[in-house]
Amino acid sequence: MDNTRYAIGIDLGGTSVKFALIDETGRFHFEGILPSMADVSAEAVIGQISKAVSEVKDYASKHGIVLCGVGIGTPGIVDAAGRIVLGGAENIRGWENLPLADRLEEISGLPVVMGNDANMMGLGETVFGAGKGASDVVFITVGTGIGGAVVIGGKLFAGYAGRGTELGHVPLIADGEKCACGSVGCLEHYASASALVRRYRERALEKMRTSSESAGTDGSRTGEDLSKVDGKYIVDLYKKGDPLAVASLEEHCDFLGHGIAGFINIFSPQRIVIGGGLSQAGDFYIGMVRKAAMRYAMPDCAVNTEIVAAELGNRAGCLGAASSFFLS
Ligand SMILES: [Zn+2]
Repeated sequence: MDNTRYAIGIDLGGTSVKFALIDETGRFHFEGILPSMADVSAEAVIGQISKAVSEVKDYASKHGIVLCGVGIGTPGIVDAAGRIVLGGAENIRGWENLPLADRLEEISGLPVVMGNDANMMGLGETVFGAGKGASDVVFITVGTGIGGAVVIGGKLFAGYAGRGTELGHVPLIADGEKCACGSVGCLEHYASASALVRRYRERALEKMRTSSESAGTDGSRTGEDLSKVDGKYIVDLYKKGDPLAVASLEEHCDFLGHGIAGFINIFSPQRIVIGGGLSQAGDFYIGMVRKAAMRYAMPDCAVNTEIVAAELGNRAGCLGAASSFFLS
């Protein structure tokens, strides 16, 4: 008799619905991806999630697999009971005041556990990935924005009523620029991948301006297509020693390290796990972030903290969502 537990893990994003049939060891037996139709309507998105659930249920029944339930990570703020998406998901139209967990229980006929997407990713990395074996983990994902999760004693900490751990929006620069959240000077505005690109472009434009004034003595920037700049572009130039890329990436790591130092001083975690595209740039990147973080953190708080790259890539969300059924 096979006593292995299986669950459906769903990672909902503004672009796609990732879904998988996962067992308690973290193994994927089936996985798929559908467009989320987030720009259409909340009902269209629920339709896509239902499609994902029925694909996995079909596979499970064909293979005699009994499912424990459905775990889902969604953008936005989820109520403390994990039943309702309250709001805050700008990337999905109408995604607010939605009793999503109950709706999915009706649709799937299975118990549903729901959480915020970044929290689910952090949980996935803690249970199955770079945080494995640790009970106290801070996860941050550095992409268009900065999201994160805090795991204390093996459990997600999300503040009273699940309203906290907006790690990208801790204040970094007191008189800083306006952030997307409405405040100023947030970590996300200075240390996200988008911020790296923005600040590189500003430097490149400035350089073009000054070199055209000095009649082409430095022609290296002329003709650079700044619309093509992304994180990878800057990392590639950094590896070639390009001064603007070096300055931009060093500044980015300094900002990020500053933010991480704050998390170390508050939580003193065993691991800080960094996810997102830049974290896969290579060991040198994590090394630069680590150096900055350790420079700013209090040594006594940082004594047990390792800073590492995430390991699960875009599977972290599904794994974390499904793991809710394996922890008890
Ligand atoms: Zn902010």
